[in-house]
Amino acid sequence: MATSPKIVIVEDEPDIREAIEYSLKHEGYRVWSAADGMRGLELIREYTPDMILLDLMLPGMDGLEVCRRVQSDPMLKGVCVIMVTAKSDETDVLVGLGFGADDYVTKPFRNGELIARVKAVLRRGKLRDEVSSNLVRIDDLIIDSLRHEVTLAGALVVLTATEFRLLRFLALNPGRVYSRDLLLNHIIGDHAVVVDRNIDVHVRAIRRKLGAGRDLIETIRGVGYRFQMKS
Ligand code: CA
Repeated sequence: MATSPKIVIVEDEPDIREAIEYSLKHEGYRVWSAADGMRGLELIREYTPDMILLDLMLPGMDGLEVCRRVQSDPMLKGVCVIMVTAKSDETDVLVGLGFGADDYVTKPFRNGELIARVKAVLRRGKLRDEVSSNLVRIDDLIIDSLRHEVTLAGALVVLTATEFRLLRFLALNPGRVYSRDLLLNHIIGDHAVVVDRNIDVHVRAIRRKLGAGRDLIETIRGVGYRFQMKS
């Protein structure tokens, strides 16, 4: 259960705070709560939660300010925020401000509604992480696994499926030297595809297609290849 998502609640009304805390814990989330923005930020920085349930109207620092501080903190990148508003005109203001949170709920809300929102936003956050890991970016070389596309300085580099797998594998592990056998195993993987078993042929083709970026793949004599390690 060590991987159950962490949630920090910032809400100044005790009844609502306790009710939210109770229902989130009941769903298996790890939960901490604060009654004001300053204490909320302390908890957020201490526990780096997956999500913050943030009341808009708080004594002292309001929810918008807490949200701004969270989003400008590089240590808190990717933390989801659901804003909690008291009435629909507050919500209108919030939306008008382009508030930058992932979602909002308006009081009074049913328990089931809140839990559904929490789950949806966490799911979206996870998907966002996966999408970003599908993008390998090294200087001006971008390897996009979702589109199966490689660009170098903005220009499309057309690779075969084998060349793509080989380049991505090397680029994900810059500086590490791989033998031809290991690279061959990787590009064949569990795909029942027929590929040329000569790795040198594939590397030559990739280099030719990369043109100015041909040196990105280095030959390590007597061993194999590695993706250039930037100093
Ligand atoms: Ca409030």
